[in-house]
Amino acid sequence: MKADPAIQLRLLDLQALDAGLDRLVARRRGLPEFAVITERTAALSTVDDEVVGVRTELGDVTRAQRKLENEIELVRTRSARDSQRLESGAVANSRELENLQAELASLARRQGVLEDDALEKMEAVEGLEGQLATLAQRRADLQAEVDAVTTARDKTCAEIDAESARLRQDRAALAPQLPEALVALYERIRASSGGVGAAPLLRRRCQGCHLELSGGDLRAVAAAPADEVVRCEECRRILVRTPESGL
Ligand SMILES: [Zn+2]
Repeated sequence: MKADPAIQLRLLDLQALDAGLDRLVARRRGLPEFAVITERTAALSTVDDEVVGVRTELGDVTRAQRKLENEIELVRTRSARDSQRLESGAVANSRELENLQAELASLARRQGVLEDDALEKMEAVEGLEGQLATLAQRRADLQAEVDAVTTARDKTCAEIDAESARLRQDRAALAPQLPEALVALYERIRASSGGVGAAPLLRRRCQGCHLELSGGDLRAVAAAPADEVVRCEECRRILVRTPESGL
């Protein structure tokens, strides 16, 4: 393939633009913010699950607490009624009096047990409410972090996108100035050679594979007509001769 030496040098400009674009794509993909956002969002979801669990437990305990309070109320009412009967003197029968006193004692014991239970439930409610407050704080912290990192990521992405747009614009202006066949060859090599399709020969070294050309290869490159598109014998990339090639 033939191409004017000046055109060959411009192919290196195209390569520089493509390398720049590739770097920006890699930079965008490698932004640590993405991983942080994914990790913190997963943590948020875990906190939400925990909140659901604690709320369910709190609902159960609160219902049990209400039930106990109702029972305590019933026991108190009954106890008050029995006490009233006892104090009224309406019960004269000694057997009946004994029964009434026994029932009052039993009600007092029952009330004590129920009140202990109710106290336990109240403490459990306090504990669960404390857990909810801790989880709410943790959730708020995580959300704030996700928001801050998202803002930072969006800002960096916008910068990268703007720079990419600039490079694409330059590339769109440059590529049509080069022969189509040369660009096609360059694209083909670039696709199969890690993004580098054309490299300058600098101080006898191919800047694509970074190997020094052997004496024979170097002589062949030097002898090739200036408009001949030469390829590195090692990496097969387009090798562009420059004043610094060392030929
Ligand atoms: Zn090479």
